Amino acid sequence: MGSTFGRSLIFCISVIAITGIFWSCSEDNDDLSVPTISAITPSEAEVGDEVKIAGTNFSYTPDENRVLFNGTAATVTASIPISITTTVPDGVIIGDGDVTVTVNGQISNSISFTVKKNPDVNSQTVYVTKNPYADVNWSTYGQYKGNYHTHTTNSDGSDSPYVVISEYYKKGYDILSITDHNYTTWPWPANPGMLAIRGNEYSGSHHMNAFVNFTATSSDLENGIPHVQSQEGILQINHPGRYNIPSLWMWYIPWFRDYSACITLEVFNQVDRYPNDRQIWDNINENLFPATGKLVWGSSNDDSHKNSHRFQHFQFMLMPELNEYAWLDCMKNGAFYFCNEPGKSGDANVPGISNISVDNNAKTITITASAYNSIEWIGPGTTVVATGNIFDYSNYKDKPFIRAVLYSSKGDSYTQPFGFETVTIDK
Ligand SMILES: [Zn+2]
Repeated sequence: MGSTFGRSLIFCISVIAITGIFWSCSEDNDDLSVPTISAITPSEAEVGDEVKIAGTNFSYTPDENRVLFNGTAATVTASIPISITTTVPDGVIIGDGDVTVTVNGQISNSISFTVKKNPDVNSQTVYVTKNPYADVNWSTYGQYKGNYHTHTTNSDGSDSPYVVISEYYKKGYDILSITDHNYTTWPWPANPGMLAIRGNEYSGSHHMNAFVNFTATSSDLENGIPHVQSQEGILQINHPGRYNIPSLWMWYIPWFRDYSACITLEVFNQVDRYPNDRQIWDNINENLFPATGKLVWGSSNDDSHKNSHRFQHFQFMLMPELNEYAWLDCMKNGAFYFCNEPGKSGDANVPGISNISVDNNAKTITITASAYNSIEWIGPGTTVVATGNIFDYSNYKDKPFIRAVLYSSKGDSYTQPFGFETVTIDK
């Protein structure tokens, strides 16, 4: 009896087990159809290109077909059981890989596919590759106020060198260059304590200031520029608007491109006589960078011939110490910002910049400053492209530079340009 009962129990369990298998097979039979891929057309394409996948067991509902290109999900735009239409997705890994289709949790075979580089899509990224303030230690460096264009009775100024030097010194200037026309006022008759920069305004058909190292005077750029370069001096091209309208900016390109001694363009001069000089400056930089790797630094100077010209234009030089070597480095690197104060108070009532940081991971330039009302970020064409103290350049692709202006009711401060390069990255 015991054994009969035992056989019946085993029989019953077997029936339940077989029935269970049968039920599960009949319930899930359609859904378990594994998709297959037989072909992909084309077999290589760029991000955004349309691709057709041929095979079996795809879903009629586009969203129910999960298509992966090198592991990145793509959007399916149309589907029937034997064909899927999709596009190569944004963010996909560039190069040789494969495509799979998953339907209802069932994954297909993989088929080879190559994602080609597309320079117009998100395989590009932008970097600041020229930052004039990169080497500035904002917490330890001094900010030294300077003016680099001044005349005396040695040319056509109304005050003697002694008076000019005394006036700038009394207003707290740290650095001054006397730049008489075709005359080197040097050495100074007296120096109360400023850093004196030896200068001369070469004044022919176009004016420019030679600084520090030069032995000869030249009234034309054709001879003067090569001379100063050979002596390892540096040059500032003065008030371009006096000679050229903005559309003639191309005239300056060969000088700045071919001569490393040509460092600055004077974009504020004597009570801002030539306001279009900032346009000329931007046009030059748009064409120099990144092709030549060079950006021209802007400068702001009184070009003072008499008392009423003084104290409107100056720059703050960011230097570890006040001497001629540090000044030359600062000029060459562009580690300074320049100012326009129409009230000529002599007290530099303009926005003060206490930090500028560039973050090539976050793609931001951040300015910390005081006494400003607003900040504009200006790009090619002297066009305002953003406002505020942080500039997000993550989408600022194929643009050569940006610069900032800090405005206040009493005066404005201008940063030097930051140079950008857009590169295609292979992931
Ligand atoms: Zn001058």
